[in-house]
Amino acid sequence: MNVPELFASMVFDDRVMKARLSADVYQSLHRTIQGEAALDLRVANAVASAMKDWAVEKGATHFTHWFQPMTGITAEKHDSFITPAPDGRVIMEFSGKELIQGEPDASSFPSGGLRATFEARGYTAWDPTSYAFIKGKTLCIPTAFCSYGGEALDKKTPLLRSMEAINRQALRVLRLFGNTTVNRVTTSVGPEQEYFLVDEKLFHKRPDLLYTGRTLFGAKPPKGQELDDHYFGTIKPRVQAYMEDLNQELWKLGILAKTEHNEVAPAQHELAPIYSSTNIATDHNQLTMEVMRKVARRHGLVCLLHEKPFAGVNGSGKHNNWSLSTDTGVNLLSPGATPHENAQFLLFLVAVIKAVDEYQSLLRLSVATAGNDHRLGANEAPPAVISIFLGDELQAILDSIEHDTEYEGTEKKRIKLGVDALPRFTQDATDRNRTSPFAFTGNKFEFRMVGSGDSIACANIMLNAAVAQSLSELADELEAAEDFHERLSSLIRETICAHKRILFNGNGYDEDWIREATEERGLLNLRTTPDALPMLLDEKNKAMLMGQKVFREAELYSRYEIQLENYCKSVRIEALTMTLMARRLILPALSSFTAQLSSAAAAKQALDKALACGYERKLTLELSRLTDQIDEAAAALAALTERFDTMEDIRAEGDFIRDEILPAMERLRSCCDEAEIRTDSKVWPLPSYGKLLYGVD
Ligand code: ADP
Ligand code: MG
Repeated sequence: MNVPELFASMVFDDRVMKARLSADVYQSLHRTIQGEAALDLRVANAVASAMKDWAVEKGATHFTHWFQPMTGITAEKHDSFITPAPDGRVIMEFSGKELIQGEPDASSFPSGGLRATFEARGYTAWDPTSYAFIKGKTLCIPTAFCSYGGEALDKKTPLLRSMEAINRQALRVLRLFGNTTVNRVTTSVGPEQEYFLVDEKLFHKRPDLLYTGRTLFGAKPPKGQELDDHYFGTIKPRVQAYMEDLNQELWKLGILAKTEHNEVAPAQHELAPIYSSTNIATDHNQLTMEVMRKVARRHGLVCLLHEKPFAGVNGSGKHNNWSLSTDTGVNLLSPGATPHENAQFLLFLVAVIKAVDEYQSLLRLSVATAGNDHRLGANEAPPAVISIFLGDELQAILDSIEHDTEYEGTEKKRIKLGVDALPRFTQDATDRNRTSPFAFTGNKFEFRMVGSGDSIACANIMLNAAVAQSLSELADELEAAEDFHERLSSLIRETICAHKRILFNGNGYDEDWIREATEERGLLNLRTTPDALPMLLDEKNKAMLMGQKVFREAELYSRYEIQLENYCKSVRIEALTMTLMARRLILPALSSFTAQLSSAAAAKQALDKALACGYERKLTLELSRLTDQIDEAAAALAALTERFDTMEDIRAEGDFIRDEILPAMERLRSCCDEAEIRTDSKVWPLPSYGKLLYGVD
C-alpha cells in the first residue's frame, strides 16, 4: 500500500483544486476560504463543474450537502448528477447554485421551535473552509444548516462564528504587542477518540445495545480492568485487522489518523488523529465515528461509541486537545524563548484561565448528555467540577508573579514581565494528570470531559467564545492603558489573583477535592444534564454568547430545549427497553428456570423423601423472591414512564428523569444482575459481560 498516494485520494483538496481550476478561479476561491472575499456565482460554477468531473472520474453518481443538525450526527440527502439530454439520454451536471445552497426538506430535524417561529424550510450553505470528499458513490459537500431567517439549526454555524470571534479578539491582542504581520488566528483541535469493540453476533442478542448503545443489565465478570493489563497491551489480530482497515478508510478521506492503542477497559481502544483547524477537526471527527462504525461491521464487530457501555469498567471519552495559532505558524499557547514572547504567552494563558473560570457552566453544559452523566464524576473520568491543571512548574511561575516573590524553579529569580524570560520548565512536568478536566499539556489545553459519542463542536464553540470574551476584556484594558508594559504586568497579576480558584493540580477524583471546590472555592458542581443545561439561559452566559456573536437569543432557547429533550428522550428509550427486556426476556427465563429447579427437586424427592434438595429448594426460593422483585421493579418503572409521558414542561421532565426514572432503572437492574449470577448461564437470555468484554480475539 502506498500511503502517500492513498491519503486524501477521496478529497477535493487544495492539491486537486490547484490542478483542476483555472488560476483566477483558484485564487478567488482561496480568498473566500481565507475569509477575505465573498463567493461569486461564476467561481461557484467553475468549482462545481470541476468537482463534478473529479467525482465522476472517481465513480461518484450522486452529490449531497453534508451537514450536522442538532441530532449530533451528520445528515445527508443524495441527489444524482443526472440531467436529461435532448437525445433522451442523460448527462452528468452539477451547478454552482447546487454547490452553494441546498434546501433539504428538513422539517423533521430538531429545531427547538425555531423553524415554527420563522419558516418551515431549512437551508444548507456550502462551507468552503472544509473540503468536499467522496463517500461511497456520493460527493459530500460540507455545509452549514440554517433557517430562512439565518438562525443556525446545526453545530457548524456557531462553531464557525466562534472561530471568527476568537480570531477578532486574538488579533486585537497581537496588534497591542506590535504584531502587524499576522492576519488570522485559528484554533486547532486534535480529538483523541475512545471506543469499544464487541462481537456483532453477541451485539444482536442484546436489545439494550441495539436500542440504546449501552448495556442496561449485566452482572460484573470476575475480571474487569483491575490488573491494568489491557492498557497499551498487545493488540489482538482481529482488532489489528480492524484498525488497519479503519486507517486506510480514514486516510482516503484525508483524515490524519495517527495513533492507535488499547485503552484501560477490556475491549476498549483509542484512535488519535494529528490536530487540524477546529472546523475541519470537527467534520473529521464526525466522519471518523461514522467510518469506525461502518468498518467494524466488515469485521463482524460493532463499534460502541456510547460514553458508558458497561457498568463497572471505564467509559469512553474524547480528549479535546485545543490550541490557538497564527497564520504565520506561531502557537500562542507555547511558552517562548524571549521576554516579549513570554509576556504574550502569559497573557494568552491567563485569558484561558479567566475564560474557564468565568464560563465553567458553559463548558460543563457543552458536554452534558444522558450518556456522559454516567461518566463524569465516576472514578474514571474527570469530575463534573471544572478546574485547570497547569503542572507544578508553571503553577509556581504564576504563584511567583502573583505574589511578586522569587520563583524557586531551576533558576531562582523574580520574574519581571516583558524584561525577563520565563524560567524554563520541562513540558513533561505539565502532562499526565489524568484526573483533571482541563489540563495544560505543554503547548495546548486538553479538555477531557467531552463524551465519546458527542460532536466536539459544542465544547469548542463554548471554549472559543469564552476565550474570545476574556481576550476582548483584556484587550479593552490594554488599549486604554497609558503604559502598555506596566499595565500588562499588573493585568496578568490581577487576572491570576481573580481566577486562581480554578487552578488545581491535585487529584480530581478525590472526594475532598469536590468538597473543597464547592464549599471553599465556590466552583460549580453541575452533576447532571438537567442541572447543567439551564445555565445556557443564565444572563451572563447569554450576554457573552450574544455579545461575541456566536448565538442569537432565539438560538439559545432552541438549543436549551433540544439538548434537554434529547436527554429525556434518550433515557425514556432506555426505560422502555429495560421494561421490555425484563418482561419478555429475563422474567420468562427465570420463571422457567425455577420451574425446572423445583421439578428437579420433586423428581429427586420421589426417589427418596429424605433428600433435602438444598441447592434446588434454596435457589428456587431465592430466585422466586428475585423474580417477584423484578416484576415489581419493572411495573414501577413502567408506571413512572407512563407518568413521564403525561408531563408537558421540559424542565420538569428532565428533573423527573433524573430523580425518578433513573433511580427506578437502577433498582430494576440491581435485582436482575443479582438473579443473573444465580442462574444457569445457558438459560440466561443475554450474553454476559464476560463474553462481551472478552469475546473478541
Ligand atoms: P498524548 O496526549 O497521548 O501524550 P499528544 O499530547 O502528543 O499525545 O497528542 C494528543 C493529541 O493532541 C493528538 O491528536 C495531537 O495531534 C494533538 N495535538 C498536539 N499538539 C497540538 C496542538 N498544538 N493543538 C491541538 N492539538 C494538538
Ligand atoms: Mg493527550
